[in-house]
Amino acid sequence: MIKKILLVGGTHGNEATGIFLIKKWQQSPHLLQRDGLVIDTLLANPAAIAAGKRYLDKDLNRCFSAAVLNDTSLQGQEIDRAHELVNQLGAKGQCHYDLIIDLHTSTANMGVNLVLTQHDKFHHDMMAYMLEQRDDVVVTSEAEMIPDHHFLCALAQHNLIVEVGPVAQNLLHHESIEKTEQAVTQLLDFIELYNANSLPSLSPSIEVFEYTGKVYYPVNEDQDIIGVVHSEIQGQDFSLLNTGGAIFKMQDGSVITHRDAPTYISFVNEAAYYDQRIAFCTLDRRVIQRQS
Ligand SMILES: [Zn+2]
Repeated sequence: MIKKILLVGGTHGNEATGIFLIKKWQQSPHLLQRDGLVIDTLLANPAAIAAGKRYLDKDLNRCFSAAVLNDTSLQGQEIDRAHELVNQLGAKGQCHYDLIIDLHTSTANMGVNLVLTQHDKFHHDMMAYMLEQRDDVVVTSEAEMIPDHHFLCALAQHNLIVEVGPVAQNLLHHESIEKTEQAVTQLLDFIELYNANSLPSLSPSIEVFEYTGKVYYPVNEDQDIIGVVHSEIQGQDFSLLNTGGAIFKMQDGSVITHRDAPTYISFVNEAAYYDQRIAFCTLDRRVIQRQS
């Protein structure tokens, strides 16, 4: 049974959609009232929200692995905040919430991207339900890459990131806010049905994209980016990039093409990843049988 749910916004301080919705629900808590459920809200990184920045010292959503939490040499605003949140919400395995849903946005064309950190019956049922509710849902999995997960939501045994895009950083965008709110409503509907053991019959399989790697911008010796994401892949998140496909248009006018095997791509030209010089991520597409 899922009884206690935490909805989180502002883990990244420049993702205005989640912050706007959390404040809306804090003003009007009746909008979240559901029989048998306790639903709390949290603004995760108030300092970054006040600054309108993704983070001040370190990405808060990379701070919740045991490796980071136990590293006493690390310091900074987000490290302090991560320890504060672990105390407030409970550490992994002792979290006070059965489910944490963390609301994010992307400047890339991610649709309504639901991010899994683990594979089990609950999460697969939730994904199958959402895939049937909406035609803009794309499920990605980070379970394979990161066993000791660094996401805030991974404090809870059941967890999910809802990442909606494309929308600019710090922008209040009607459609993105509406899609995010609808997705949360549908997720809460799912929880009620799951708890009542009255889920509709769901597809036996789900489509899941799994991250396989990152492609970096071409840079010069000063680490300046010297080629932009090519228009042929701009906005083409979750589509297939073929061998020989254009990926970068260089300052000198030349075009760099994809040399490896065909791959799916996402987070194409994501503004939040310029600090790491990541141009896009690569993924495999799998159809997996739901766990029962
Ligand atoms: Zn984010």
